[in-house]
Amino acid sequence: MVQGAIKKEDMKKLIAAVRKDGRFYGPIKGREGVSLSALGPEDGLLLDYSNFKLPPKRQFFPWSEVIYTYGAENITEVPVSEEKVVLFGLRPCDVISLFYLDKIFLDEKFIDTYYRSRRNNSVIISLACTEPLETCFCTSIGGSPTGKKGADILAFNLIDSFLFEACSKNGQTFMDVYSAIFQKPAPSDIKARDKQVSGMEKKVQAVNVSGITEKLQESFDSTIWDEIAQRCLGCAVCTYLCPTCHCFGLYDEKTGLKGRRIRVQDSCMFPSFTLEASGHNPRTSNEERVRQRIMHKFRYTVENFGDIFCIGCGRCINNCPVNMDIRETIAEVMK
Ligand code: SF4
Ligand code: SF4
Repeated sequence: MVQGAIKKEDMKKLIAAVRKDGRFYGPIKGREGVSLSALGPEDGLLLDYSNFKLPPKRQFFPWSEVIYTYGAENITEVPVSEEKVVLFGLRPCDVISLFYLDKIFLDEKFIDTYYRSRRNNSVIISLACTEPLETCFCTSIGGSPTGKKGADILAFNLIDSFLFEACSKNGQTFMDVYSAIFQKPAPSDIKARDKQVSGMEKKVQAVNVSGITEKLQESFDSTIWDEIAQRCLGCAVCTYLCPTCHCFGLYDEKTGLKGRRIRVQDSCMFPSFTLEASGHNPRTSNEERVRQRIMHKFRYTVENFGDIFCIGCGRCINNCPVNMDIRETIAEVMK
């Protein structure tokens, strides 16, 4: 495994070197809290955050994007981006979400070329967690605050330096290309890393999901969906902020004979999501929609892709306007 260390005051050298070839995204405090944003020459790295408010999926699967434009006699496709991008500071749970999104957008039968190009041109530098939130439950769903799954490089935030460990060929190539900036880690760096890893998983709350897929098979007609639906506003915040939710719609914006086709993220929490052209809607009630959201994450993705599509990031808990807590829903299902 390739390892390297960079003093915190020298991170600007790495950022400047990367910016000559592409963009360097890192944590920045903005209107919506701490988010992953392209760093300019004067921007420093913000390190005092638990996780980004917005999920990293938007880097690969934007809220909306124009797919093509058209006139009366022509269609012009929007070319896929080939820009080289480094994403620094994703938490290990969010990196796993990209592993799941790959299963959707890079399925061999239906490859999404926009998503594929962005993924192929990115290097993911994950930053190990130091203080999991009370709402984190990654360890219950196969994650870890210091996990490497899906990352190109795992970084540790130490007192005055970062320790980097390559986890993929892509990450190793990145560290080779910028080897002049990486130093050999000092024994004290390794010791500090080990201290950080030790006991970190115990800081994360455990949630029992053992056998939840089977439990959900028996819960389709349960009254719990009605109880949840009575509180849920159907605002869809939980799905837009969920790093693994990936539904979208295609819409046309037309003026006269010209127009453009746009892909827009959508949500199963909206009645219009399942509204058919005939006016028929097979999922009319909020009860059916809240059930669909949970069934999709904990049952259908297991049946179709072999994985629960929840990474235990807690975003849906922290941002629900009526304090819905997916851990309570899981506990109800598991009774
Ligand atoms: S964020 Fe809360 S209120 Fe809004 S749709 Fe999700 S569960 Fe319902
Ligand atoms: S369902 Fe909630 S906790 Fe699970 S990945 Fe989505 S936002 Fe995170």
